[in-house]
Amino acid sequence: MWMAGYGGRTEPASGVRHPLWIKVLVVEDAGGRRGVVMSSDTLGIPRTIYENTVSALGAKHGLEPSQIMLHASHTHCGPVLRGALHDIYPLDGEQLRLIGEYSAKLEEGIVETVGRAIADLAPARLFAGQGVTRFAVNRRNNVEGDVPRLREEGALLGPVDHSVPTLVVRRPDGALKTVVFGYACHNTTLSFNEWCGDYAGFAQLALERSHAGAVAMFFAGCGADQNPLPRRSVELAQRYGGMLAAAVEEVLLDSPTELAPELRSALELVPLKLGAAPTRTELDEIAKGPDSNYRVRWAKRLLAELDAGKPFQREYPYPVQVWSLGGQRWIALGGEVVVDYALRFKAEYGTGTWVAGYCNDVMAYIPSRRVLMEDVPPRASKRWGYEGNTSMMVYGLPAHRWADDVEDVIGFAVRRLLGRLSE
Ligand SMILES: [Zn+2]
Repeated sequence: MWMAGYGGRTEPASGVRHPLWIKVLVVEDAGGRRGVVMSSDTLGIPRTIYENTVSALGAKHGLEPSQIMLHASHTHCGPVLRGALHDIYPLDGEQLRLIGEYSAKLEEGIVETVGRAIADLAPARLFAGQGVTRFAVNRRNNVEGDVPRLREEGALLGPVDHSVPTLVVRRPDGALKTVVFGYACHNTTLSFNEWCGDYAGFAQLALERSHAGAVAMFFAGCGADQNPLPRRSVELAQRYGGMLAAAVEEVLLDSPTELAPELRSALELVPLKLGAAPTRTELDEIAKGPDSNYRVRWAKRLLAELDAGKPFQREYPYPVQVWSLGGQRWIALGGEVVVDYALRFKAEYGTGTWVAGYCNDVMAYIPSRRVLMEDVPPRASKRWGYEGNTSMMVYGLPAHRWADDVEDVIGFAVRRLLGRLSE
């Protein structure tokens, strides 16, 4: 199959470095209310897979969407999934067939695995803690090639979020059953053509090796503007995985806070407005280029929609979810969320707040107001422009940017939902 994430690959996957996983933790509180956490070695769960999975879990197990949290590790060594970023890959009919088949199998696999986790419910104690590791680098504000020197000089520029939020599930006898941990950094050490979970995959393997019988699960934080640097070798992916696993081990040793058996959850699909749509003149101009260019494929697809009289989508139903797990706040946002959101929500709701990105539906980058404004041309830095502007085309959306109020709308939604938890 074709591999997800980079537009530059010229061939499908050629082998397996380590298997890709979906893993599920189901928790049930003292009142019988359940919550589902899924981790997956995927670039992102696309909207149709999210919708189909949530509706199947509702029908089969009576779960509401707010009780279901589907995480993606954002590995760039996983499969292309249905409807996600298709303009940037040279997909033929056979590849589209494989993508459709795999996506359907993934949906079935998620629903079946949740069913097995529910059937396997057993008494457990939950704990929350937070570790730290520092391999994530702000990619907008540091030149990749300079990172080793800047790191040595202590001159790397932020903002960054180096925290490792960790949920620990222990059996009544104290044995580790499951550990769920997050980190705010692109899972892009590797760009080769082998299936692999990248640093997040190696971190899970390391933890499962040192805790026989336990399951380790990763969730991505707000790392849309963060890269694991330097990168591009398996040794570095293993090393970052080892660093992340070591941070989790520290939390396990540090006797973190025990959580009361109470789960509250809320979720909204918030309409996020897109910025101005591209004009026909602009699309005609871009469409003149060669078909091998993804911008040309994007423009031609949108022109065909215009010709068919289909109005461009002007807003997107963006998933914002919050949990209180025995008092531990967990904010889970869709899309590729930049680090400003994690820092903002920690400032507003406490440094112990967990903030996940790449959750439930990955439809685009989610820039903060700062990043959105920095990315308006002409730009003060050569490295700016992607997260707040050109990535919209990569994701196939009919706009060059989100509307200016994107951060405000998400910030208000989080506040509203957290308020609902304490009602
Ligand atoms: Zn990304």
